[in-house]
Amino acid sequence: MAAPKGGYFGRILEIDLTNQKFKERKVSDEEYRKYIGGCGMGAYLLYNALKKGHDPMAADSPIYLGTGPLNGTYCVSTRLSVVNKNPYTGLLSHAEVGGHFPNEIKWAGWDGIYITGKSKNPVVLYINDDKVRFIDAAKIWGKDTLETEDMVYAAIKEPYAKIACIGPGGENEVGYAALMVERSRAAARTGTGALMGNKKLKAIAVRGTKAVPAVDNKKAYEAMVAAKTLAVEREAWQGIKRYGTAGLLELKHYAHGSLITLNFQTTWWPWIDNLGGEEANRTFWKRHTACHHCPVHCMKLGVIRGGKYDGLIAEGPEYETGGLLGSNLGLKEFDGMMAAIEMADAMGLDAISAGGALAFTMECMQRGVLTAQDLDGVDLQFGNADAAVVMLKKIGHKEGKAGKLLAQGVAKMSKEIGKGSEAWAVHTKGKEIAAHDPRGDKPRGYSYAMGTCGGDHHEGNTPQGLATWAMINSLTMCSFVGGYPWGKEIPKVYTDMLNPLCGWNMTDDEFWATAKRIMTLERCFQVREGIRSKDDVLPVRLTTEKLPEGPKAGAIWTEEDTKKMHESTYGYFGWDSNGIPTDATLKALGLDFAIKDMQEARKA
Ligand code: SF4
Repeated sequence: MAAPKGGYFGRILEIDLTNQKFKERKVSDEEYRKYIGGCGMGAYLLYNALKKGHDPMAADSPIYLGTGPLNGTYCVSTRLSVVNKNPYTGLLSHAEVGGHFPNEIKWAGWDGIYITGKSKNPVVLYINDDKVRFIDAAKIWGKDTLETEDMVYAAIKEPYAKIACIGPGGENEVGYAALMVERSRAAARTGTGALMGNKKLKAIAVRGTKAVPAVDNKKAYEAMVAAKTLAVEREAWQGIKRYGTAGLLELKHYAHGSLITLNFQTTWWPWIDNLGGEEANRTFWKRHTACHHCPVHCMKLGVIRGGKYDGLIAEGPEYETGGLLGSNLGLKEFDGMMAAIEMADAMGLDAISAGGALAFTMECMQRGVLTAQDLDGVDLQFGNADAAVVMLKKIGHKEGKAGKLLAQGVAKMSKEIGKGSEAWAVHTKGKEIAAHDPRGDKPRGYSYAMGTCGGDHHEGNTPQGLATWAMINSLTMCSFVGGYPWGKEIPKVYTDMLNPLCGWNMTDDEFWATAKRIMTLERCFQVREGIRSKDDVLPVRLTTEKLPEGPKAGAIWTEEDTKKMHESTYGYFGWDSNGIPTDATLKALGLDFAIKDMQEARKA
């Protein structure tokens, strides 16, 4: 098979933590054209590396950090996909994260980093172009993510490197621990932090100085300029630029009726003006920050002046962090919400799952199923920001009875607590769902229930949306730039850039076939692990309780909604009525290697 001519270096860095060794794995142009990169390449590598039921915590279970062909080029807003078998759910999961770290990997001359093994002692992995070092991290182990980044910079003495690390949450193998990139960007929802903790990998630092090869540099550059211009011109971009995603907090409350509130008891939160984008813009934000070459700069940094959190510097709120650690906890004050967001980042926790676990516990308190005594004396009531901050720290350290209980997440907690709490345990496929209530925002149900990972908000809101996002996440592009604003022109905009860059002649039809291949391969992985149509459902609360108030008062997710979602998605991708890809589909997509597994799944 031929080596890639452009867009890729044609090699992945394989790290063996057990023996502190590394080597290069060649990847052909044909493989890249079929699976692109990011989550698509991750699915291809992991499907073939792992067998059904493989223990995600086994030494040979990999973490794949995958870039795409556009990373490191002039293209706007390129990111990274982190792929692994999630120890929290037992399923294939991918997380997308931005910053500058992703492009440093590419500029170091690697299309991705594939990490296996377990180090005996805590270690920092430092990659500088072709050089790889394993640095003793004994003194850094135990530090939060902010301290860790400072200490790694001091150890490597390379100010231009970019760093991703875990906090106490990862070290203590909290199932929903995140990999934190450049302090406040989270590769979450994948349990990657717990996996890294298990592998004793505290941080990864990368510095690169190589140029990405291009077949027709001039034409690729012109297409990238046109793509950027198109994104900048579109209105969808403007709101995100000014308010980040925090502006959605007010929008989803006042207009969409989908702002999660009080553990999904309602979507109406009259105090949202204290928490949202307008308030943040007026009182908190001091700096806009951006991922590499992104004109949107949706990330906002601020500092709290006055009050008990005086001097606290934090990033956010974003819609997800503000929803999960704001309205969902019944908070009414901005500063307390920001303190909770900052604590989740410092502990290296997925704010969505952590917020879900806190809100579930608060409802248990509200209903008298738990008391402060059950929670090491912490009065974790709705509206108590201080208690939420204390509990987040306890979760990160798995400290006490309460820290250990909440570190399990909602699905396992509700089983342990019982007393009917399953009725308000909001999760899909074992994972807490994000901040958009699908009773008020029905298309979001597709992302939660039909998306590969379960409970995630960025997987696409229609069958074709699922395919589109599989492609965007394989191209490791940000959907705020390389998704929503390009709309119907998405295939053309991408192929206009990819063809001169990689020397391809990809058509719109091939774009969609590739998208379906990636989505279907991810599905094969999940089916092999036992997932069927019965699992492609939304949490019971959303199907049994109507929204009590707000713009979508009375809305509920119905059986008819589920039926329509299944039929349209399975039909679009060529999966059978149980959600298993058919032999004909697998053959047509060139996924013959999965046929036997799917036949066995059909018999089971
Ligand atoms: S829109 Fe925001 S998340 Fe997306 S690339 Fe730009 S700065 Fe990063």
